[in-house]
Amino acid sequence: MNQNNRQNRGLVGYLALLIIMLGALSLVNFYSSNKSGNTVYDMEKALSSGQVAVARITPDQVPPTGVVELVLTSGEVLSIQVTDVAEAEKMLKEYNIYPVVNKAQGEGILTSVVLPIGLSVLAVIVVISIMNRGGGGAGRMANFGKSHARLSLGGEGITFDGVAALKEEKEELEEIVQFLKNPGKFIEVGARIPKGVLLEGPPGTGKTLLAKAIAGEAGVPFFSISGSDFVEMYVGVGASRVRDLFNEAKKHEPCIVFIDEIDAVARQRGTGMGGSHDEREQTLNQLLVEMDGFGINEGVIVIAATNRVDILDPAIMRPGRFDRKIVVGRPDVGGRKEILLTHSRNKPLGDDVNLEYIAQTTAGFTGADLENLLNEAAILAAKQERKYICQADINKAFIKVGIGAEKKSKIISDKEKRITAYHEAGHAILFHVLPEVGPVYTVSIIPTGMGAAGYTMPLPDKDDMFLTRGRMEQDIMVSLGGRIAEEIIFDDITTGASSDIRKATKEARMMVTRYGMSENIGVICYDDDDDEVFIGRDLAHAKSHSESVAGEIDREVKAIIDDCYRRAKDIILENENVLHSCAALLLEKEKITRKEFEDLFVQS
Ligand code: ADP
Ligand code: MG
Ligand code: ZN
Repeated sequence: MNQNNRQNRGLVGYLALLIIMLGALSLVNFYSSNKSGNTVYDMEKALSSGQVAVARITPDQVPPTGVVELVLTSGEVLSIQVTDVAEAEKMLKEYNIYPVVNKAQGEGILTSVVLPIGLSVLAVIVVISIMNRGGGGAGRMANFGKSHARLSLGGEGITFDGVAALKEEKEELEEIVQFLKNPGKFIEVGARIPKGVLLEGPPGTGKTLLAKAIAGEAGVPFFSISGSDFVEMYVGVGASRVRDLFNEAKKHEPCIVFIDEIDAVARQRGTGMGGSHDEREQTLNQLLVEMDGFGINEGVIVIAATNRVDILDPAIMRPGRFDRKIVVGRPDVGGRKEILLTHSRNKPLGDDVNLEYIAQTTAGFTGADLENLLNEAAILAAKQERKYICQADINKAFIKVGIGAEKKSKIISDKEKRITAYHEAGHAILFHVLPEVGPVYTVSIIPTGMGAAGYTMPLPDKDDMFLTRGRMEQDIMVSLGGRIAEEIIFDDITTGASSDIRKATKEARMMVTRYGMSENIGVICYDDDDDEVFIGRDLAHAKSHSESVAGEIDREVKAIIDDCYRRAKDIILENENVLHSCAALLLEKEKITRKEFEDLFVQS
């Protein structure tokens, strides 16, 4: 469908909505012509609390007096005698309520009976005719303009108790729970609570579960909506959904708004391809406007989830928006056991079931994978008319879900695990010993699901303006550490270090050709191309130097690498006992913290 057509359908939809509203309003008026004793003060109260859905003004036959009728979101109708209808209209508009202004009162049967009924009938006809055009339109029309948000009170009864393994994540979120429970306490001491929290991690790791549990713990309403719900076929609908959602949320504060798959709306602007690109930008802009619009500590906390933090528009991470990011990773052995325990609470297990063993053999599995595993096992047990699950059911289920999970995270053998453990320990030791890199924050051999068998994470870089030669050499040494450890421990070497080697080589080449850091080449830049993409560059560009210089560069690069390699190997050999103890601890726990790692140096 082309853009124009889409817009037209959007317009018709809005028109239909408007007509329905007018019709409904007239009917309401018709049946509730009782004039209660409401005052302008009531009107202001209703407006400022955001309860007014629609308004109608009917001037008396002798202006400026008249009657203002407000239909509240609760369905209640307030009717207020005012002394100046123009003044009332102005006040309504200040709250973004655009009233229907009637002709002067004293209406006949035409306006009070025929018109409302006629309008309603017309609206129904319009809606039906739209629904009949194009099959897909029907379902969409049914909730046209609504925010699509699903409201559940207290997150469906899920609490932190039902979220296993994510201990640190839960601790970080605890302060948000406390705030939602008792905002006053925080406001009194002038504490600023984050408006938005971004949960980042692979699918099935428990992000949605965590968000629900926060609502459950705090006992507040939970509005949830998926980013893909915003991206609709009608231009402008996404933005209006965002507006509706936040309007609704503000009425229920304190509360949680959960936006799943936020990457669907919050992709970097201006990079979109394909049709719904304008629509997405509008939606994202509206989201940012809403988040900026409500004040600090207002009681609406937005939680978003994504597994693609890399493609998010950096604008959403600005202060006052999603200023807290929590990484929800795949569980380690201990975590997997906890998750298995949680999900076997209502599943009777036979005596031969060994959850410890299952946890050890499921590296890379997410919470959802594990839940799935137990569920498949339960189905197998039920098929055999057994009242409990036995280990054989789990083994069978493992094959079934394991094959599915393999695509995602690749089940690793014990041998591969050992190699990875030594490899990461090698990196980690160098990070720790070398003064200008590190310290190590986490060492992990949990497969990332994106090709890496493990990772060693230093604390975030200090914002150094210049890289020194010493620092660059130490980076290279760290990169080579994994490969060196493999070489020391195993006779064979693996292909696992190829990206490390590429990184080391690239850095050494930059030292020679860009930073003038080698003896023989000197302070000359042979690398005037800022292009980060190396593939094919040598083919496409004429070299700015001769073959002999090229040979010299290669020799210098090799000299740097060789030198770093020797020095790195010496350090690892000096710490060989830490290499063993670190690998052993990694095999036991899969993920170790800075403290656990540093303690290894003290013990040895
Ligand atoms: P995500 O939102 O990260 O994709 P979900 O929160 O939807 O993942 O998790 C899917 C299911 O996996 C949950 O309903 C739950 O059964 C299970 N699960 C995932 N992580 C955990 C966990 N940490 N503890 C208990 N169950 C979990
Ligand atoms: Mg989810
Ligand atoms: Zn490595």
